[in-house]
Amino acid sequence: MIINKEWTRRKLIKTATNASVVLLLNPFSFLTAIEPDDKVEKIVAKTIGIDTHNHLDVPFNLEQFKSQKYNLAVELKASGLTAICMTFCVDRPQLEKEGDAFSRFILSLDEMDQILKANNLTRALNYSDIKNARKVNKQIIIQSVEGGHFIEGKIERIKVAYERGLRHLGLMHDGQTSPPIGDIYTDTPQYGGLTQLGIDTIKECNRLGILVDLTHCNNESIDKALEVSTKPMLISHTGLNTKLGTNEKMAKMMMPRLISKEQAKTFANAGGVIGVWTHLAGTPLEYAKNVRALVDVVGVEHVCIGTDTKMTTPIGSSDRFGKNTNQSWDNTTNGFFYTIIDALLKKGFTEKDIMQIGGENYCRIFEKATTV
Ligand SMILES: [Zn+2]
Repeated sequence: MIINKEWTRRKLIKTATNASVVLLLNPFSFLTAIEPDDKVEKIVAKTIGIDTHNHLDVPFNLEQFKSQKYNLAVELKASGLTAICMTFCVDRPQLEKEGDAFSRFILSLDEMDQILKANNLTRALNYSDIKNARKVNKQIIIQSVEGGHFIEGKIERIKVAYERGLRHLGLMHDGQTSPPIGDIYTDTPQYGGLTQLGIDTIKECNRLGILVDLTHCNNESIDKALEVSTKPMLISHTGLNTKLGTNEKMAKMMMPRLISKEQAKTFANAGGVIGVWTHLAGTPLEYAKNVRALVDVVGVEHVCIGTDTKMTTPIGSSDRFGKNTNQSWDNTTNGFFYTIIDALLKKGFTEKDIMQIGGENYCRIFEKATTV
């Protein structure tokens, strides 16, 4: 709320100043003068805005967690989004012994239960939950995990995760799972795509009703997953490998993590949706350009937002890594969704396009994946 109030106040001052100047010049132009900001607000108010990859990094230590407070509801409301796919990973710091991945996974979910309770938020278990949240102007969480490390070869654990509210599973992350699930895009390929465990994981997600996220999978893994899955899938955070930005070091680091036009087309033709990262965009307008580039390749029905930022970090903590969602770019004072809608409008996207990219596309595959 703090951000929103501040933003509204600032916007009112700005609008009032602009409007008085314009009114002096042309007394009938008042409505056009305030239109752009109104348009953003109008779109925010009717769109199911979703960040399909947003980290909440809770500590793997209950004592540490107990001393923390998370302003999740406040930040989420200020962002203008309806939902975030609240993601965490268990492979940082590196996993050492069997069982660690699962205990970290369960502890993280326990801690998130407490954060959600303290913030008066719930998890969406199906598409209706998301729609209802939008209807009553409330925010909601889609529980996600990045990497199937917690499975540790025991496929029955996916059901445990489902029962805890998990509805979105990222197959891979930076570190390999034990036993391995398949080839990660930043490693040397050695499994010919997915292992049997990777295949079985997708089948179990299809059976239970969990959306599969193929970010961090190399091309062969993606192709194999497309053969196996009976449901459309997501690549939540990437970008076109032709859009490398101006930072050379960053571009080199990001190259293996980005998708080619050919692969993006194949994935979209199979019903998939691809999220655009904020990392390669120095400004909101550059972000809108990156979205445009992907839309030009796969069509507006197959693109979504996947920031890989954090809606909140513990109050008073020094951040481990990554940016806060509402401060994705320097000098931005608006909530995240307001900022990018403004940029998307400036880049020529229509209201309908923005509603699709902003959340409808994700909702379409989420509904298909979670309906069994
Ligand atoms: Zn990732």
